[in-house]
Amino acid sequence: MGDCLFCRIIAGEIPSNKVYENDKVFAFRDINPQAPVHVLIVPKKHMDNILACDADTAAALTDAVRAIAEQEGVEQSGFRVVSNCGKDGAQSVNHLHVHLMGGRALAERMA
Ligand code: AMP
Repeated sequence: MGDCLFCRIIAGEIPSNKVYENDKVFAFRDINPQAPVHVLIVPKKHMDNILACDADTAAALTDAVRAIAEQEGVEQSGFRVVSNCGKDGAQSVNHLHVHLMGGRALAERMA
C-alpha cells in the first residue's frame, strides 16, 4: 500500500465520503468538487493510471459509472467522465481514478 493516498482511503485509514463500493471498486466524493456531483471512482487494486488498466478493471469502472450516475440522479441529464493521466494530463494522485461530474450543464471546453 505504501503511502498511496487512494489506497489509504480504500483501506479506511483516511476518511472519505463514500458513495459506492463493491469487490473491485471504491467511489467517494471529491474533496474539491468542480460540479454539484463530483465522484472519484477508484479500482481497489493499485494501478498508477489508465495505461495500466486491464480489461476486468475497465469493465468494473464502467459498471460503477453506470450505477453511480443512476444513484446520483444524473443518468438522464448527462454527466462527464474523465481520467487524467500523467504530467500533461494534470494527474495529481498516481492511483487510477475516474472523475464522474454532473449536476449542472458543464463547460464545453475541457482543457
Ligand atoms: P487528479 O488531479 O485527476 O489526479 O484528481 C485527483 C483528485 O483527488 C482531485 O480532484 C482532488 O480534489 C481529489 N482529492 C485529493 N485528496 C482527496 C481526498 N482526501 N478525498 C477526496 N478527494 C481528494
